[in-house]
Amino acid sequence: MSRRDEIAAGLAETEQRIAAACEAAGRDRSEITLIAVTKTYPASDVELLTGLGITDMGENRHPEAELKLDELRAGRQTGAPPLPRCHFLGGLQTNKAGAVARYADVVHSVDRVKLANSLARGAEAAGRTLTCLVQVDFSATDPGRSGVVPAGIADVASAIAGSAHLELGGLMTVAPLGEDPAPHFAHLVRLSQDLRAEHPEATIISAGMSGDFGAAIDAGATHLRIGRSILGERPPAG
Ligand SMILES: *Cc1c(COP(=O)(O)O)cnc(C)c1O
Repeated sequence: MSRRDEIAAGLAETEQRIAAACEAAGRDRSEITLIAVTKTYPASDVELLTGLGITDMGENRHPEAELKLDELRAGRQTGAPPLPRCHFLGGLQTNKAGAVARYADVVHSVDRVKLANSLARGAEAAGRTLTCLVQVDFSATDPGRSGVVPAGIADVASAIAGSAHLELGGLMTVAPLGEDPAPHFAHLVRLSQDLRAEHPEATIISAGMSGDFGAAIDAGATHLRIGRSILGERPPAG
């Protein structure tokens, strides 16, 4: 099987499962954006995905993401579909925010005011506008390690919404490892409703990965971040 056929099969199967979850939840597939998480996979896989209609890619590391985008840009053939939007999903140090602001379209992992301010400076320097999501952490054992605890959302959201170079997109979470994700996704959706009372534009609810996207669709997620289910198991990090 060619790599293209392999990815096409993974994508088709994933789409079938998304359709079934939408059907069960009484939702329309068009309410949901599928982000293909291409971290650790080569630029050639991203190229194949765009040929299969994928418009959004997810990356979690700098500089891997930047190098991949550079490679994609350099290899572009005339008439090829446009490059996918780049969603940055990973934990981000303040000193790398300026670099990420140059190429990311959406940053899902904004979890502190200081990071929002650094992204704002980077976006301004790059002459770009960056959509930012507040990452929420529901972990009971180690709260606030990756993401802000619910009580901290408002401050980070205000810092984003108050910047001329950032747009507040909404909320994101990664369900705590080894726990039933459903109550956490439902909690995120309630927090999103609260946030939209203050910031009506913040409509994105980013939740759901290969292992739990059915539960995320059921809860009301608008953006799914799916890697392995489309692209196959990742090679172990070297
Ligand atoms: C890797 C990653 C995903 C995708 O995970 P899969 O299990 O490959 O679907 C989603 N979200 C974040 C934040 C990630 O780091």
